[in-house]
Amino acid sequence: MFKDLPALQKTIRLLQRVPYLASKNIYRVALYFLQEKENDVVLLFNAILKAKKDIRKCSICFNLTESKDLCSICSSKARDLSVICVVETWYDLAAIERAGGYDGVYHILEGSLCPLDGISADDLNVDSLFGRVNESVSEVILATNSTPEGEATASFISSRLANLDLQIKISRLASGVPIGSSLEYMDRVTVYKALSGRRPF
Ligand SMILES: [Zn+2]
Repeated sequence: MFKDLPALQKTIRLLQRVPYLASKNIYRVALYFLQEKENDVVLLFNAILKAKKDIRKCSICFNLTESKDLCSICSSKARDLSVICVVETWYDLAAIERAGGYDGVYHILEGSLCPLDGISADDLNVDSLFGRVNESVSEVILATNSTPEGEATASFISSRLANLDLQIKISRLASGVPIGSSLEYMDRVTVYKALSGRRPF
């Protein structure tokens, strides 16, 4: 198809690599770019290139940061460094920040334990978490998802933290969180209630 339009063909083929772009919209997206002013297309792609170049991961919590070693949360004086909320992904952090009311810091695991998919603790940011937890930490909130993988991850981290022999409160999100759901897809009120109503793990 479109053998007489090789440039369009190539654009569509490359757009098809974007995982969240519904395939039925691919032609519309391709045509949208063709019809846009050249300057606007350049603006968009330059913005993506700049974001790719400047955005990196915080060296403490793995949150995103722009051109700095520490993210805005880790370097904020308004945040309570003694409370660490452990989440699976950046999307979960974003959901908690959107909900508001939490003033501690985070640790992003970048995944959850899943033996079936071959994902072990070595594939997650857990060593860096245990490296952070010392006498100055009062609470670790296990905000992994309420899926079998998220629960297994919470149990694993909890038992390892208990072995550290520190006086740390370990808590889990309130039981109002629907089974199998992730913070990312929950509304702000549910996220807020889950966090503020957290219970000892
Ligand atoms: Zn950070």
